[in-house]
Formats: sequence, structure tokens, C-alpha cells
Amino acid sequence: MYYTRSSSTRSARICVTLSALVMGALACSDTPAAEAPSADEARFAAEARSAVRAGSADEPWFGVMLPPGFEPHALHVISNRPAAPAVVPQGESQYRHLAGAAIQADLEAIVGFSRESEETHEVGEGQIWGRITGFPSGAKTIQWAVSEFRAAGISNVELQPFEQNEGASIWLPLSWEVRLLGDPAFGAGSADVVLESAMPLSAGDLSGGSLTAPLVYVGTATSAELANIDVRGKVAVQKAIPQGHTVFVRSPVGPRSQDLLDRGAVAVLTIIDLPGNMRARDIGCGGGTCFNIGGQDGRFLESVMDAAAVSGTTADIRVEMRLESERFSGLSAANGVAIIPGTSRSDEYVVLNAHADAWFDGAGDNGDGLAVLVALARHFATPGMQQERSIVFVASAGHHSSGLSGPGNFVAMNPEIAEGAVLVVNLEHTAQRHITPARSLHEDGYREWTMDSHEAPIVAGITNLAPFLEGLVERGIQRYGTNFVSGPNTMASGEGGTYRRLGVPVFTTMQGPPMYHTTGEVLEMVSTPGLERMARFMAFFVEEVSGAPVARLDPR
Ligand SMILES: [Zn+2]
Repeated sequence: MYYTRSSSTRSARICVTLSALVMGALACSDTPAAEAPSADEARFAAEARSAVRAGSADEPWFGVMLPPGFEPHALHVISNRPAAPAVVPQGESQYRHLAGAAIQADLEAIVGFSRESEETHEVGEGQIWGRITGFPSGAKTIQWAVSEFRAAGISNVELQPFEQNEGASIWLPLSWEVRLLGDPAFGAGSADVVLESAMPLSAGDLSGGSLTAPLVYVGTATSAELANIDVRGKVAVQKAIPQGHTVFVRSPVGPRSQDLLDRGAVAVLTIIDLPGNMRARDIGCGGGTCFNIGGQDGRFLESVMDAAAVSGTTADIRVEMRLESERFSGLSAANGVAIIPGTSRSDEYVVLNAHADAWFDGAGDNGDGLAVLVALARHFATPGMQQERSIVFVASAGHHSSGLSGPGNFVAMNPEIAEGAVLVVNLEHTAQRHITPARSLHEDGYREWTMDSHEAPIVAGITNLAPFLEGLVERGIQRYGTNFVSGPNTMASGEGGTYRRLGVPVFTTMQGPPMYHTTGEVLEMVSTPGLERMARFMAFFVEEVSGAPVARLDPR
């Protein structure tokens, strides 16, 4: 689901009241949000804040607006201006397989496997879904890629199956609930509130059982601050404020979770302070009982805890959690591999990889990369488009499922390609739109998402920093407008890291937007022109690489 919300439809009164509770005197009227609050607005906000504090006992939950619940496949964006169109350089208009609309159709098919995973409750009660390697959704995605490779006319196409490593297992939560317990002390009619965006990260002692404990708020506390907070026997509520990608808050948030558990907290709730109310499967916590909480649930929780602190009822705020989970082992998976032989140097290989696995809808991680990979296979399979070197397309089982490494098994199972590889391209998170918290506020005082006309920044990592390859990245920006992050770097994370073992340059394109590993990573956040931009750039890159001497690809 995807819709827009105009700021003029909100209730200014509710908006000011609720935003004032946590945000202080920020204006939340129908005036443009970028404007500073007027003296009147600031006074109104201050009055509203004291009114909430003084008069809240008559209303449920101190008068704080209840969270909106959880919507799967939802991304609420204000303003829906289109993405900037793709640039088609002269002489490339006949490359029909690289057109955005065609790639978008494939992306929809790929995301469809995730949607089916959710609809069929592939995992437990269906609170988590995805294209999960080792499960039918993962297998179907790889099979789809294989049949698309064949349909493109490629004769050398294989489904390469493999088994999960001995002793490895994948932990998945099957069913869970985080319930804030109601109490008349918070205002008459304060019924239980289920924080539906809660996402368990590991079970700790909780699996198969439940736990009820009081809450203690620690926010972003450092060790120095935690020395003054007693978390023993309580559920600690901490806050993660991603500067874009949740990856960038794995530290310090993950270690802090561990620290809180070590200090005696029975569990940790981590509020992911982003717009919307998404489930986020990211940020570890060392195996203890930890849940991530979406932005709007988190805002409710914080507001209620603030109001309880003011009214002296903090000790009454309690949460009840339950969780069932399972470790899965003995699974099997497959990579889909297609080879287009080279015209003159067929024993030398350019390997193109995209991982097929995903959490939730995974339109951007890595539906877009996989869709671009399939488009490139069709492009290079077109008569007359063969290159000097052989091109290998790997629809990889990915890296989310422990013991079922896509790239690891590809390298092990294809010694001839591993031996003859001259370069690896890893297409990973390649065409998500640039999405950031909006400057205006939602009716409960929360920010929503906004998109601009371009893609999120794309890190272009080249492990050997070869000037020739860096030059191609530069030319890509000039030729296609790809939004590469400035500055050469050697990044090869995700699938790219495993390919380092081949000892050849690895080129990884990767975005790090905030929706990563959340339920908000839906189709609408991928740019159709962005898919085309990346596909056209990659076709150009592969063509240039395929004809270049090894010494230019890897000058040592
Ligand atoms: Zn990925």
C-alpha cells in the first residue's frame, strides 16, 4: 500500500498537543513545517503540554494518541513526485531489455514471492516473511531466475543445489507479541496496547514462554549514564536513531543491548526512530531477549513513559512479551547459474551476481539487483551482444540463511569459473529512491517519509581501486546519471565479501537507505528509471570490462 497525505488534513489541535509532549514547542499547524514556530504557536504548545500533564488522568493512556497498528507492505510517503527519467545515450535506444518498465515487471514478480510467503504464513503465524533461502519462497525465486535465463535463449543454465553446512542453523521467530499492560493509573479506560511493529531479534530465555516485567527507559544512554540507572529485573527501552541505514547504528545499539542484559535487564526493546511503524529485522543483541519497535509504536511508548514519569506512575508501566521461535537446520538451497560464452576469450569470465534472498518484501534488498541481473542476461543473450569474455550470471541463494551461502557454494561448485574469473560484479541494493524523514509532521507529531527525484546514494566499491575501473564509474555518472557516492573505496560487503576469495577485483554497487531489512521496503520505494539507469550503466561497464586487458582490470 502506498498513499500520500496532505498536511492540510490534520487536526492542528491534536497535532500540537501530542507533539508538545515529546517534541517540546515545535509547531505542528498547517503552516509550512520549515518555518520556525511563532510566539503564539510556541505558547499554545507549552499550554497544551501542561494540559496533557495536568488533565491526563481522565483519558486513557494520559491522553496520548494510540499507535496506528501495523500494516504489512505499507510505506506512507508525503508527496509523490515522479523519479527523474533515465538517460538513454545515443545508440542505446534499441536496448529494449534495459528499459525500466520491463525490469519493473520482473521486480514485481520477485516481490510476489515474498508476498506469497506472507499470505501463506510460510514461517509460523506469518509475522515475518520474505524470500527465505532454505524455504519454498527462496527456492521459487531462484527457479524463476533460472527459467528467465532459459527464456532469454541462454543454453548453459543450471540450477546448482547444495545442503546447509553441518552444525549451522537459522533462527526464525514463529509467533510473538509485545503487550503494554493497561492500568487505570494511566487514565480511566487504559486498556492493553499491543505494539504490533515489535520484531524479535533473538529469543534469550523467552522462546516458548512469556515474561512480564516493568519498563525502564534508557534512551541512548552511554556507560556513564547507565551507571545511574538500575535496569535489574526490568525491560530496558533504548532508542536507535539511524542516520539513514540501520546498519550504521548496529554499533553502538547492539553492544548497548548486550550491556543492558549484562547489567541485569531481562529484555531490551529498541525503538527504531524512523517514520512509519515498520518491523525491522536488524541490529543484533548477543542472543538475549530483544525486540525492535517501529517508530510510531516507539513514539507512543516514549510519550507514555514520559507522562508516567510526570505523574509518578512509572513503576506501574509493565510489558508482557511472548515468543515462539525455532532453529532450522538440515535445509537445502540452490544457486541459479547461466553462462553466455565469450567470442574470443571464453575461458575468462566476468561474473555478475545478485542475491535472491530477502527479509519481508525486499524490493530494494535485493529485488532491484536481481531484476537488473535478469535484464542484463537478456541483453547479453541477444544475438550480436556476446562479448569477448564469457559472462556468468549468478542468481545467488544469498547470505541471510546461515550455512547456505550462495557465493560460497558458487565458488566451491564452479572451479573452472573460479579459476578463469577476471572480475566479479555484485549487484546489491541498486535502485531504491532517496527517501528521508519529511520536514513536516504527521497528526501524532511524527515525521513521515518523503522522496526526492533521484535514487539513494550508491556506494561503488572496487576492491583493488584499479584506475581503469574507477574511470568507468566516473563515466557512468556522466553518461547515465547514476548516483554514485563520491570517492573511490574498496567496499565489498553483502555478497561481495565472499567473492574476495577469488583474488580478482570485485565491483559492488550498494545503497544503504533507511528501509533496509524493514517491512517498508516495498515496490513503491524502487525507482523504475533507477532500475534502467543501473541496468544501462552495468551493460556499459561489462562491455568495457570484457574487452579490456587483464593488466588494466588488475594492475599489480
Ligand atoms: Zn543485500
